[in-house]
Amino acid sequence: MTDPLSDTVPDRPAMDAIKHGLRGRCPACGQGRLFARFLKPVSSCRQCGTRIDLHQADDFPAYIVILLLGHILVPLMIEVNAALAIPLGWQAVLWPLLAVILATAMIQPVKGAVIAFQWSRRLAGFR
Ligand SMILES: [Zn+2]
Repeated sequence: MTDPLSDTVPDRPAMDAIKHGLRGRCPACGQGRLFARFLKPVSSCRQCGTRIDLHQADDFPAYIVILLLGHILVPLMIEVNAALAIPLGWQAVLWPLLAVILATAMIQPVKGAVIAFQWSRRLAGFR
């Protein structure tokens, strides 16, 4: 049995869209830029015209980044402390600084992936 919408609704492969979103590209065409500024998406793709401003990523990218940082930093802290004897004063600077650097590096790709996932599954305003 075929999906009655398959002839009228174009397919939106989620993994391709997420890959484009992670690279900061339009989830539809993969060519146009997804972000006008660091975390400010463009209103629509300059290449294909897909509206991007319909997303509702809200705080979800930040939650994902916090989850990932916890799973990266805590095991790293345990391993480093088991192998090296870094003074606590240095660690009080090292780990928060590393957390800020990693969070800054990860937030835009994660937000792009969230927007792309919403677009591919027709969530939020992408219906
Ligand atoms: Zn596009």
